[in-house]
Amino acid sequence: MGNPTTPISFEFFPPQTPEGASKLTAARQLLAAFKPEFFSVTFGAGGSTQDRTLDIIKQIHAEGHNAAPHLSCVGSTRDNIRGLLNTYKDMGIKRIVALRGDLPSGMGSIGEFQYANELVSFIRAETGEHFHIEVAAYPEFHPQARSARDDMLNYKRKINAGANSAITQYFYNADAYFRFVDETRKLGVEAPVVPGIMPIVRYSQLARFSDMCGAEIPRWMRKTMEGYGDDVESVQNFGLDVVTELCEKLIAGGAPALHFYTLNQAKASIDILQRLGYRA
Ligand code: FAD
Repeated sequence: MGNPTTPISFEFFPPQTPEGASKLTAARQLLAAFKPEFFSVTFGAGGSTQDRTLDIIKQIHAEGHNAAPHLSCVGSTRDNIRGLLNTYKDMGIKRIVALRGDLPSGMGSIGEFQYANELVSFIRAETGEHFHIEVAAYPEFHPQARSARDDMLNYKRKINAGANSAITQYFYNADAYFRFVDETRKLGVEAPVVPGIMPIVRYSQLARFSDMCGAEIPRWMRKTMEGYGDDVESVQNFGLDVVTELCEKLIAGGAPALHFYTLNQAKASIDILQRLGYRA
């Protein structure tokens, strides 16, 4: 594809162990060579990773990269969110990924925010235009949405509350993405919608995630990967072909950027980027 200019970004989760943290530092160094727009770090709903998210954000920021903390509001209070916003603002963080999150079953009450649009409004009310706010979008629709149209209207509500752009849940069907963009444009929503890209490393893990978050693995992909059984190399080669083709379609169709769910591993994302013609 030559020398693609579509911007890229990478997502991490905060590691639980010192070993995980040093692996992540190594992965980040490899990925930094591709000059991403930013690295984002997830945030466990109910604040369960609050300190670890902040630690990784500090490290990324200290290394001179743009760091974007995720912030999920379910189970949280205004005071708590205000405290975190001020910490990030004082550090010089400029971008936040604002989410509702999902409370683990049996864990506490919903808290003072019910939906992500309320968090977006709160961030704008507290910090004005300081942050670039990203929100989540679902080309195959959020599992709890009453209907596809409702979900798009709820997405519109988040943008109208002051979000600048969106990152999507991952998907393997480019048509779902292009249709989502077209349909939400018809609703008057012009914000950039950045596709979330999930490289394929292990089929069983991907199948588990997909069942939880409502992202479809098309039958032909499932059947092919199931057929490979324990042959991890074949799964990964197949995944590399399929996800590279998906990215090519997205870039050709005008996707404004690509956001990689790295699961804290560099190789799978780098293999795709190199196939696409990106150079470190
Ligand atoms: P919302 O936009 O609030 O939507 C949730 C559901 O409620 C949808 O079905 C929507 O249609 C409906 N809805 C929204 N507003 C209303 C309303 N006003 N009235 C009625 N219904 C409404 N989770 C984490 O815990 N931590 C993370 O770091 C994290 N990062 C993510 C990053 C990305 C890019 C994506 C796509 C998801 C991420 N998630 C994360 C998962 C996310 O928190 C879940 O998908 C969650 O279930 C929904 O979050 P949301 O922000 O999309 O919620």
